[in-house]
Parts: sequence; structure tokens; C-alpha cells
Amino acid sequence: MSGPQVSFEFFPPRTPEMEASLWRAVRRLEGLAPRFVSVTYGAGGSTRARTHATVTRLRTDTGLTPAAHLTCVGASRDEVDAVARTYAAAGIHHIVALRGDADGAVPGKAGFEPHPGGYRNAAELVAGLKRIADFEISVAAHPEGHPDSASLDADIDNLARKVEAGATRAITQYFFDPAIFLRFRDRVAARGLNIPLVPGVLPVTNLKTLLKFSALCGATVPDWLPQRFAGLDDDPEVRPLVATSIAVELCRALEREGVNEFHFYTLNRADLTTAICRVLGVTEHAPS
Ligand code: FAD
Repeated sequence: MSGPQVSFEFFPPRTPEMEASLWRAVRRLEGLAPRFVSVTYGAGGSTRARTHATVTRLRTDTGLTPAAHLTCVGASRDEVDAVARTYAAAGIHHIVALRGDADGAVPGKAGFEPHPGGYRNAAELVAGLKRIADFEISVAAHPEGHPDSASLDADIDNLARKVEAGATRAITQYFFDPAIFLRFRDRVAARGLNIPLVPGVLPVTNLKTLLKFSALCGATVPDWLPQRFAGLDDDPEVRPLVATSIAVELCRALEREGVNEFHFYTLNRADLTTAICRVLGVTEHAPS
């Protein structure tokens, strides 16, 4: 039996210590042969150089296929296009194209303001990228609806615009109830969108951060989740075991419904994602 296809998301490190721990995680996760690994882009392009450096090093120093996240925030079209051209020249052919959020966004409202000469949304960015090079383009999908959207149908219309512009994969915001993803998948299929819809899986490492971030991005945290972590604040050994089994339960429930690809928000840690992938049957090889 072979396991599901997987991909991993990292964020660009801010300090030399974080950098060392990222590369330890990359080396560990490389053996799981992900389809691709992606690197996020900070609010307002604040990580532009670090994202670029991380993606480029993944391309030159590992056998992995990197994808660079790119957003519309705080930059003109020309500036965003220039970043994309640099990626194309460096042999990076996969972009995760996103609108992004304003810095300091408040819960329930992302507060995005387009740059006067910038791309106004992810669909426009996808179209712009396709004019630059024949990138493979993944985009975000929001199974519970994006906080800025009038309805889930409006959000699915928006996903359709991104697909029409050239996106070929959608990666979802994280969620904890498999029914949320499955209902969304049905509605996306009913809309006639025929692209892989890959669930984004977040192994929970910090409950407080999760609650804060979920209020911002519109993800529901079910009551049972904090309950499973209750009383474990001072138990760093048990918390990851609980996090692993929650993620495995979610993936297994999705697999029973035919899902065979997962995107893991690794938060630059290898331990949880490695354990989850192993239990799911992803075979580990010696890194190249
Ligand atoms: P869009 O697809 O542009 O949509 C945003 C909202 O605007 C939706 O409600 C949509 O319905 C609405 N909308 C768009 N166009 C129109 C229109 N023409 N008319 C009416 N309504 C419209 N953020 C980062 O800053 N950096 C990252 O690296 C990053 N990586 C991410 C990776 C994944 C897998 C996911 C799921 C999210 C990521 N994000 C990242 C967060 C993302 O930037 C936010 O969720 C953002 O608020 C929306 O981005 P989007 O690409 O979905 O926007």
C-alpha cells in the first residue's frame, strides 16, 4: 500500500537559529518525497528577500521542487512582476499566488487595500503571472468562506476566476471538521471546477496562536479541540502526541472519502509532519 501524495509549507526564517532549525526540518522532511515544498511570503512583501533566498536554496541545495508564495500587498504590478521574473530566471516554476492581507489585520476582516498600481486580487495576479512565464500556479481556497466574501458561492465564483486565469491547483485554508472540506468539495465540483482541491492540514502546536489566527482567517475551531489540549500547557511531551493524532484522524476521515493528497503547514517543524505522514503510510527514503 502506498500512502497519499504530500506537500509541505515553510515560512522564511527570521534569525540564524530559526534558519538552522528550518534546514534541519527540510532535511528530515525531504525523505518523505513531497510533490513540492512551498515558502510563504510575509505581509506587505516584508519577507521578499528571505522568501527568495529560501526558495532558491531549496532549488540549489536539495532534490525538492520548491514553490514560492507571492502576494499582491503593498507593491505595484511592475514590482510584483519583477519578483516573478527573478523566480523564473532562477528556475522556480511554481508560484502559490495569493492576495495577501493588510499588516495588522483585525479578526473577521482582513482589511486588504490594493496598492494604487497593484494587482487587486489573486485572480488578477494569476493572470499577470501567466503573462510572464508558463508558471505552475496554485491558489488559496477557503472551505468556510473568506471573511471578506459575501457568501460561500461568491467565494467559489472567485475560485473559478482564479482557475480561468490559469491556476491548476487550490490549497485550502486549514479546518478541523472533515465535513467542512467535503461539503466545499461538492460545491466546487457542482460549479464545474475540475482542479485538484488539496486540503491544508495544520498540526496544532500552539492553541493560543491558533485561536487568534483562526478568528482572522475565518476557520472554526471546534469545542473539542481546546478540550483535548486542556491542562497540557506545561506538558510539551504530550502536546505533540495529541496534535499528531488529531491530524491523523482528520486525514484518515478524508481518505475514506477519496482524498489522496495533503498539504501540511509544517511551521518549520519536522517532528509532527513526519509522524503524521508515517502513520498515513508515506514511505520515508534516505535524503539525496
Ligand atoms: P482572493 O482570491 O483575491 O480573494 C480574497 C477575497 O476577495 C475573497 O473573499 C474573494 O471572494 C474576494 N474577491 C476577490 N476578487 C473579487 C472580485 N473581483 N469581486 C468580488 N470579490 C472578490 N498570505 C500571505 O500574506 N502570505 C502567504 O504566503 C500566504 N500563503 C497562504 C497559503 C494558503 C494555502 C492559504 C489558504 C492562504 C495563504 N495566505 C497567505 C493568506 C491569504 O493571503 C489570505 O487568506 C487573503 O486574505 C486572501 O487571499 P486569496 O489569495 O484567497 O485572495
